[in-house]
Amino acid sequence: MQVTPMMQKYLETKEQYKDCVLFYRLGDFYELFFDDAVNCSRILGLTLTGKNCGLPERAPMCGVPFHAVDSYIDKLVKNGMKVAICEQVEDPKLAKGLVKREVIRIATPGTVISMQSLDESRNNFLMCIVYMANDIGVSYADVSTGDFFVTHLADISLLKDEILKTSPSEIICNESFFVSGFDIDFLKDDLKIAISSLPDSSFDDEYCRDVLLSHFRADSLDSLGLKENSVDVSAAGACLKYLLDTQKISLDHITAIKPIRVSDFMILDHTARRNLELTETMLEKEKRGSLFWVLDKTKTAMGARKLRSSIEEPLIDKDAINHRLDAIEALNADEMMTGEIRGLLNSVYDLERLITKISYKSANPKDLLALKTSLEVLPDVKRDLENFNSDLLKEIHDNIDEMQDAAGLIDKSIDPSAPVLIHEGGIIKEGYNDDVDHLRKAKTEGKKWLADLLDEEKKRSGIKGLKLKYNKVFGYYLEVTNSYRELVPEDWTRKQTLVNAERYTTPKLKELEETILGSVDRLYTLEADIYNEILDVIYSNISRIQKTAGFIAYLDMLASLSVVSVRNGYARPKINNAGVINIKNGRHPVVEKMIDNGQFVANDTFLDNKDSRVSIITGPNMAGKSTYMRQTAIIVIMAQIGSFVPAESADIGIVDRIFTRVGASDDLAGGKSTFMVEMSEVANILNNATRNSLVILDEIGRGTSTFDGLSIAWAVVEYIADKRYIGAKTLFATHYHELTELEGKIPGVHNYCIAVKEQGEDIIFLRKIVKGGADKSYGIQVARLAGIPDNVLNRARELVNELSDNDLLEKAKEIASLGKGRAHPGAGLVSASEQTGIKASHAEADIANRQISLFDKQFADYDDIISELLNLDLNTMTPMSALNKLFELQKSAKDKI
Ligand code: ADP
Ligand code: MG
Repeated sequence: MQVTPMMQKYLETKEQYKDCVLFYRLGDFYELFFDDAVNCSRILGLTLTGKNCGLPERAPMCGVPFHAVDSYIDKLVKNGMKVAICEQVEDPKLAKGLVKREVIRIATPGTVISMQSLDESRNNFLMCIVYMANDIGVSYADVSTGDFFVTHLADISLLKDEILKTSPSEIICNESFFVSGFDIDFLKDDLKIAISSLPDSSFDDEYCRDVLLSHFRADSLDSLGLKENSVDVSAAGACLKYLLDTQKISLDHITAIKPIRVSDFMILDHTARRNLELTETMLEKEKRGSLFWVLDKTKTAMGARKLRSSIEEPLIDKDAINHRLDAIEALNADEMMTGEIRGLLNSVYDLERLITKISYKSANPKDLLALKTSLEVLPDVKRDLENFNSDLLKEIHDNIDEMQDAAGLIDKSIDPSAPVLIHEGGIIKEGYNDDVDHLRKAKTEGKKWLADLLDEEKKRSGIKGLKLKYNKVFGYYLEVTNSYRELVPEDWTRKQTLVNAERYTTPKLKELEETILGSVDRLYTLEADIYNEILDVIYSNISRIQKTAGFIAYLDMLASLSVVSVRNGYARPKINNAGVINIKNGRHPVVEKMIDNGQFVANDTFLDNKDSRVSIITGPNMAGKSTYMRQTAIIVIMAQIGSFVPAESADIGIVDRIFTRVGASDDLAGGKSTFMVEMSEVANILNNATRNSLVILDEIGRGTSTFDGLSIAWAVVEYIADKRYIGAKTLFATHYHELTELEGKIPGVHNYCIAVKEQGEDIIFLRKIVKGGADKSYGIQVARLAGIPDNVLNRARELVNELSDNDLLEKAKEIASLGKGRAHPGAGLVSASEQTGIKASHAEADIANRQISLFDKQFADYDDIISELLNLDLNTMTPMSALNKLFELQKSAKDKI
C-alpha cells in the first residue's frame, strides 16, 4: 500500500519538524493529521475527522480556517507547544501537479509576535542557557521588540534570579544544563516555562561566532562587546540562530546585542523584588498594590516596559542617577509643557512591536497608518523638549529622529480608510499612482456600462422586472422571474435555473464582465504591489524608527515619574557616596495610597556606615514595623531609579544591594516559607552582603522555638553589625524585645520602637517610630483586637504572669545576654542554620548548653508542657485551636499532679 503523493509530502515535512505540531495548508484550511490531529483537536475544541491517505485506514484529521489560524496557534503556543506553519508557496491555479509547500515559520512560546496575545507592558523573552561548570552563558531576546541581551554568570546559584527577573516564556539550553542539578521541574511546573535542549553543535564557538558576525555585519566579536570563545558567544549565537530558524526571516529589527554588566546596577534578587512588591504584589501577583502600579503613568506600551525594567534594575552610578533626577526636576518645573508632551505621547503606538511587524512584512495598512500617527507627533515632541534645560532631555531631543520622510510617504500613499487586508484594494490613496486611479475609474465606469446594458435589454425584451446581479461563482447575470420567461430573447444563454427564476448571460455582458473583473483584478494586484514597495521603504528605515522608539520610551518614563512626583508630593533625593541614608518624614508610596488620604504617618530613617549601622525595631504586631522597613528600602530603590521619593527630604547613600528576609509568620499565606527557607535566605544575606548593602530583616527566627529563634536572631545581628564581617546598614524588626539589649553592647546598634498608647485594656497604634526599645510585646492586647474570646485572653494573662513569676523570661534574657560584648557570631546550636550555611564560629560558650539549664529542676516534670507552650505561635492560631490547645495542656499538667 502506498500513501497518496500529498500525504507522502506531508510526512516528509513532518519528519523535519518532529517536535512541532504541523499546520499544513490545503486550500482555505490548515489541516493537522495523525497524532497532531488527535492531540490538538482536544485542546482546540475541533472535530476530529479523517482523510483518505492511501492506507487502509483513514488518517485522523482536523483543520482550522486559514483566516482564523492565529488564535489557534496562540492557544497551542500558550500550552507550551511549537507550531510549524506550512504554507502554499505557489498559486494553486498555476501549479502543475502538487502545489509547492514550505514551512514559513515556527511559532514557539518565546517567539510570539502577535500583538493580541502579548502583554504590552512586559517583554516576551526567549532565553538561551549554556551551562558549563562554573561558567554559564545566558542570552535572551524578545523578537516582538528586537531586544537582545547577553550576560554570563559565574555560579549556577545566580541563575534562578536571572530567570525570575527576566521571566522568559521559553528556554533553550544545552544538554548539560539538564544534569547541572538545577531544578528543571521548578521551571516547567511552577513557572510554566517551555524548555528544550539543542544539540551541542548549536553551541559551537566558531559556528555561533559566524552567526553573530554575519547577522550584525560585524567583523569582530569585540565590536559587539563580546569576548572570543566565551560562553556568552555560544549563548547569544545559539539564541539568534534559533530565532532565525523559527522565524525564517532575516530579523533586521534585531539591530544590536546588549551585554549586561551586572556591575552597572543595584543587585536585587528575587526575594527582595518579591518582598518589596516592586512590580507585583506578593500574594495576588497583581500590579495593583506594587511600586510599579504607583509609578506607572506612562502613555505608551514602550514607556511602561522601560519603567518596569528600570524598577528592576536601579542604577548605582551617582551621575547617571542625577541625570535622571535633573530631567524630572526640569519636567516638574514646567508642568504645562510636560502635560503637552504626555498628550502627544498619547497618540504614539507600540512602535517597537510595530517595527517587528514591519520586519516580518506582516504589517497591514492599518499598522502603517498607526505608524504614521505615531511619527507625526515627533516634531512637536522635539519642539516641546527644547523648552527644558536638562542634559538627559537634551540627549533625548537630539536622538529623536523626526522621521517625517516616512510619515509623509505613508500620508500621501495610504488611504486613511484602508482595510486590514491587502488583497482587496482600497489601500492606495487617490492621486498617488496614475495607474491605480485609472483602473479605479474603469471600475466606476463599469457600473455605468452595466446600468446602460440593463436598460437596453429591458427595452429590447420588454421584461420590466429584469435585474442585473453579481455573485462570485457566476459573475454577472440577468435574472428573469418565471412569469416573464417567454419574453427571453434568443441570444441570451441560460446560466442557472432557480425555483422561480432563471439567470442568463449575453455576449455583450460577458465582454463587459471580463473588462470590469479584469480591471478589478489588475487594480488589486497593482495596489498590493505598490503597498509592498512602500513597506520596503519603511522597512529600510527600521533602525531609525527603533532608535527613536527607545528614546520616546525613555521620555515617557521620565514624564511619568515627573507627574507621579508632582501629584504625590515627592521630593528630589540628594545622592551621596558616603553611605549615609537620611530620610525625613518618609512614607511608603504604596501603603499611603491604600489607606485613607492623609492617614499615613510619616517617619524618619537614619543609617550610616559608622555609628548608626543597625536599627533594632520593636513594637507590637500591627504597629507598622514591616511597613517602615519596606518604605526605607523602597525609597532607596526609587532614588536609585532616578525618581523623586515620598519624603520631606532624603539623602540617599548609594547601596549596591538590598537584601530582605521576611519572617515565616508574615509569609504563611505564601505557603512556601518554612524555617529552612528562612534560614537559607538568611545564609544568602550573610554570605553576600557588603558594607554598602542595605539589609531588611523582618522577624527572623520565628519559625523555630523561642530560644533557638532568639539565639539565631542575636547571632545574626552581631555578625551583620560587625564591620570586620559585614557592617551593612540594617533594619531589624523583631518581637524579641530581648534584642534591645544589644544597644550599647555592639557599636553601631540602636534601638527604635513604634509607639503605641495604652488605653485601658486596649492599645492605640500611633505608627510613629521613636528612639528606644519596646518594653512589652502587647501580644495579648493585639489578640484582643483580633477578637480572641475573653476567657482565652484571661487565661493567657494568667499564664504570662505565672511564667514571668517563675522568671522564665528573665532566664531567657540572661541566656541571650551571653552574647554580650562578643563581636563574633555565636550561633552554633541550630542544625538548620548549619545545613543552610550560616557562618558559625567556634563560640566558646555554646548557647545551646545553657538552654538546657533553663528547664531546671523546678520545672523538670513539666518540661514537655512548657516547651510546647513556648512553641505556640499565638499569632497564627485560631481562637478555637488556641482553646483546644489550652485544654490539652491543662489536662496534661493535671495528670502530672
Ligand atoms: P507590623 O510589621 O509591625 O506587624 P505592619 O507594618 O504590617 O505592622 O503594619 C500593619 C498595618 O498598619 C499596615 O497594613 C498599614 O495599614 C498600617 N500602617 C503601617 N504603618 C503605617 C503608617 N506609618 N501610617 C499609617 N498606617 C500604617
Ligand atoms: Mg510585620
